[in-house]
Amino acid sequence: DEILAQEITEPKVDNLVRSGDPLSGKGNGTILSLVKNSDLENIIGSIRQLEKQYNKNFGYPYTFLNDEEFTDEFKDGIRNILPKDRIVNFGIISPDKWNMPDGIDRERYDKEMEKMETGEVSYAKVESYHNMCRFYSKEYYNHPLLSEYRYVWRLEPSVDFYCKIEYDIFQFMSMNDKIYGFVLNVYDDPETIRTLWTSTMEFVKEHPDYLNVGGAFKWLKDNSQNPKCYEDTQGYSTCHFWTNFEIVDLEFLRSEPYEQYVQFLDKKGGFYYERWGDAPVRSLALALFADKSRIHWFRDIGYHHLPYANCPTCPDDSDRCNGTCIPGKFSDFEDKIMYKQNCQATWIKHSMTDEELHM
Ligand code: GDP
Ligand code: MN
Repeated sequence: DEILAQEITEPKVDNLVRSGDPLSGKGNGTILSLVKNSDLENIIGSIRQLEKQYNKNFGYPYTFLNDEEFTDEFKDGIRNILPKDRIVNFGIISPDKWNMPDGIDRERYDKEMEKMETGEVSYAKVESYHNMCRFYSKEYYNHPLLSEYRYVWRLEPSVDFYCKIEYDIFQFMSMNDKIYGFVLNVYDDPETIRTLWTSTMEFVKEHPDYLNVGGAFKWLKDNSQNPKCYEDTQGYSTCHFWTNFEIVDLEFLRSEPYEQYVQFLDKKGGFYYERWGDAPVRSLALALFADKSRIHWFRDIGYHHLPYANCPTCPDDSDRCNGTCIPGKFSDFEDKIMYKQNCQATWIKHSMTDEELHM
């Protein structure tokens, strides 16, 4: 609680690259959105806010991916709201990288999703949602349009950026040796990942050499806020980085442990027989195969994706945040929530290194 109450403006490191500095805007990164043509209006909302709070000063390129061709209306709609000289890439995902793979038994999928829908699991029967989770887990970082980039900032439709971000995020990642950045930590619906943990442990037994001695193991197991999750998954608290916002070093995803892990998971079929999300998959991989000191909580970034937010505490006289978020407020539905969804505290307790705590 103490750490949350601190006034947070930006990381306390002396190598921040600010707008106008020689290295400003020269990081090797792109903002990435996987979207449908029908998402145009909502992704424009996100882009406008990100440009205003951050990217107008840094000029990073955008990359849009879709499982269908982008229409001219979509492409023009995006270009029209961005400066003329801004690099914007539009790409299509080949069907073999997007669709349900041949190895999946469709009857079994239908049967399992019938059950899940009865259990009120969201998106259970939405096949494209399963495709999306699999794509973000094991495919996107090998898309040809991303081959030249090292870092990706993932952007979704209909999100909010409440506060100015006055330093170069990609340069922060590289200059401070970070491979992953997040803003929110939440518990998952255990129904969607019943066998993800046991499958993961099977993989780890086959490849103990992939484990990182500095991994965030205790974080994965801390069920103090939510005991039921732990039982349903047979060992995983379900706490994960909420990947609708993420800054990723693609070298980590392209590394042998990550690639082998997601291929192993893919063969298990859980992206379809269950509804494994890319968020728990990414989080398990990071906690097991990466050093926790390389994972950064961007507590200074004011962010909202329905229904959760990260809202930093600013100095009283500061105009950094736009006044639409309440410092420390996490959920849009604070009083309606059945059990605590926020597991930020377990990350702070188990996995924030001394260096990160003071950053
Ligand atoms: P939620 O945040 O978990 O409710 O899921 P979203 O509906 O926001 O989907 C996550 C991301 O994937 C968003 O950027 C969506 O635009 C994108 N997405 C989801 N389904 C599809 C799809 O079928 N095709 C494409 N091209 N993008 C999709
Ligand atoms: Mn979303």
